[in-house]
Amino acid sequence: MKKTLISLAFGLMALGVFADEIYVSPDGDDAANGQKETPYRTIRKAIEDATPGTTIYLRGGRYMPTEADVMYRGAEKVYDCVYYLDKNGRAGSPITLSGYPGEDVVIDLSQVRPDARVMGFNVNGDYWHLRDFDIVGIQVTQTGHTQSINVGLFGGSNCVIERVNMHDGMGIGVYATKGSNNLVLNCDAYNNYDPVSEGGYGGNCDGFGFHLNGRNYIGNRLYGCRAWRNSDDGFDLINNNSPVTIENCWAWENGYDADLVSRGDGTGFKSGGFGMKTVKAGTVAPRNVVTNCIAWSNKQNGFYANHHLGGLDFKNCSSYQNKRNFNMVNRKSIDEAVDVPGYAHHLSDNLSYRPELSDADCVNINTSLCTLENNTFLPSVAVGEADFESLDASQLLRPRKADGSLPNLTFMRLRADSPLYGRGVGYLFGESTSGMVSVEAQGNDAKYYNLMGVCVEHPADGIFICSGQKVYVP
Ligand code: CA
Ligand code: CA
Repeated sequence: MKKTLISLAFGLMALGVFADEIYVSPDGDDAANGQKETPYRTIRKAIEDATPGTTIYLRGGRYMPTEADVMYRGAEKVYDCVYYLDKNGRAGSPITLSGYPGEDVVIDLSQVRPDARVMGFNVNGDYWHLRDFDIVGIQVTQTGHTQSINVGLFGGSNCVIERVNMHDGMGIGVYATKGSNNLVLNCDAYNNYDPVSEGGYGGNCDGFGFHLNGRNYIGNRLYGCRAWRNSDDGFDLINNNSPVTIENCWAWENGYDADLVSRGDGTGFKSGGFGMKTVKAGTVAPRNVVTNCIAWSNKQNGFYANHHLGGLDFKNCSSYQNKRNFNMVNRKSIDEAVDVPGYAHHLSDNLSYRPELSDADCVNINTSLCTLENNTFLPSVAVGEADFESLDASQLLRPRKADGSLPNLTFMRLRADSPLYGRGVGYLFGESTSGMVSVEAQGNDAKYYNLMGVCVEHPADGIFICSGQKVYVP
């Protein structure tokens, strides 16, 4: 009996059924067993085998799924999903899909061209951790109103999207409509433009969009992400019904394509709003938080309230050479689609320098209905080139650190001899960290983290996510 069980166990292991790790390689074979020396060929096969606790390792190379690999065809041509992640991991046992350490993994979606909207990954299950790969080449085939999405958070909660770069395609980077406690960590979205639909206007390709369709989602955050040269916006929270936090993120040259041709809207951080058409009765505007972020040279606005129906929080943000650096315009009410100067916003410790339009440091705001503390505007504080260590924006493109955290900058960093230095305005610089520390390393070290001053345990990994960069707070 015992021998039979052992044989059965070995047999199942040989099939990959009990394996904690599944390997995939562009040179692999789906008829193999998905182990390190005998990897599968398709990511789909590995996803079908995964169970809670499984880590799928993608060996280096270029993966080119075809129509035959599409895991899920949506109704009415809305989202043919190449990879459909509808099974659940568990707390402490997420399902991880990871580039193999030290190897470059590119998933090229250019061969998937259905007559439908395309989604690269539909994260529909809980406790998924996607990390360490690039997605390129996603297509749009429809010429009317449409959009494609690289990574969709469409139902899963407690998921982490980490060091996933989405670029040089026709789709949105990350697009979320449902779920709680999802974290988008240290991801880049760039050169995304759809030249096919709506005459090539490019009005739908954002870097990162959270558009949560209910009021009860909690704990969704973007941390350490960069968005540049997306044809619409860098970060977009329009039609979002639950509060989202955007922290330690950079946005620049959005509203342009990869060649800097003007295309869609062009806001760095579109931080709320419900559009100016009909808004559903009973809509309650979430108080989204944008903290410790940089916006440079976006076509329209650096930081934008986008006709929101309530207040938003902006703290320690630096905005430079956007048409308007901060634009706080609100909509009057659900019933009245009229723009009014922004109300109920909290702006503290923000820095504005040289907006493209004159007097556009912070526009469309009712200062008597907002809380304004220690910004360089309203009342205006002198800011000049001599206040900064560098104004060389090319630094934003520096490679990330080995752990995926943002590179160090001197761009926009205040000189120690600047009168602004001691005021604590603008983006906080310091010894940058990944935003994560291990449970063991946390402890007393937590006092080194400022901003919110907290480290939060993320349920997917048992890791701690700390707000802010590592800045010693005496
Ligand atoms: Ca748009
Ligand atoms: Ca947009």
